[in-house]
Amino acid sequence: MVKAEAVHKSYGPVEVLKGIDLEVKQNEVFCLVGPSGSGKSTFLRCINHLEKINGGRLWVDGDLVGYQQRGDKLYELKDREVALKRRDIGMVFQRFNLFPHMTAVENVMEAPVQVRRESKASAKEHAMALLERVGLAEKAGSYPSQLSGGQQQRVAIARALAMKPKLMLFDEPTSALDPELVGEVLDVMRGLAEEGMTMIVVTHEMGFAREVGDALVFMDGGVVVESGNPREVLTNPRHERTRAFLSKVL
Ligand code: ADP
Ligand code: MG
Repeated sequence: MVKAEAVHKSYGPVEVLKGIDLEVKQNEVFCLVGPSGSGKSTFLRCINHLEKINGGRLWVDGDLVGYQQRGDKLYELKDREVALKRRDIGMVFQRFNLFPHMTAVENVMEAPVQVRRESKASAKEHAMALLERVGLAEKAGSYPSQLSGGQQQRVAIARALAMKPKLMLFDEPTSALDPELVGEVLDVMRGLAEEGMTMIVVTHEMGFAREVGDALVFMDGGVVVESGNPREVLTNPRHERTRAFLSKVL
């Protein structure tokens, strides 16, 4: 589903990703962990066409990100074509960034109606089913300000799912939540994993990584320090930098 080969990304003179190699398989829950500033969000943004890489190659769902191959020539995608690709990727951020003037169900319906030109009736039916799935059917008519952080984040997940993505990216989805609300969001993510959704999850929740993760990569300073089965890496980290990080978050 995702393959990175020596992916480099710089902002001006600052090199943030210094050659990332990794592979995310279909139906996999892929956990990306590492200290703040190591380039995790930047990497997700590259996958989601929000940043252009400066070197290496990055594929999503079999296609080179940002390009289209015709014969043996590569063409850079136009903005409209990039927008089409992005529809297949759902993203959930640390901050729930729901539209504040829309109810939960309106938030979930927004993209299908505006972007995919779905009828309001069918978008609403689908949105209600998604709210049901994240356990919030009874909050459909509530505005974000009337919901807890955990509920808002579950609406944000439903909203991302509304576009029927092939891949879900989670960027520290529980980091801004009060501790007692973390579990309800992780439960929804666990449910998605059980249904076979391919997910890349940036998280400090090592319990989730251990129980739900199929693969784990530890990043530091723009490089992959170590990777493997989450249970193995978390129980038996091989690198000092991984150990130092884990001793802080575990
Ligand atoms: P992480 O998500 O692992 O905390 P980020 O990907 O957010 O790390 O950031 C990695 C580094 O890239 C940081 O040093 C950050 O300051 C820098 N960075 C991120 N985005 C930009 C940007 N748009 N312009 C300049 N520097 C950036
Ligand atoms: Mg980040």
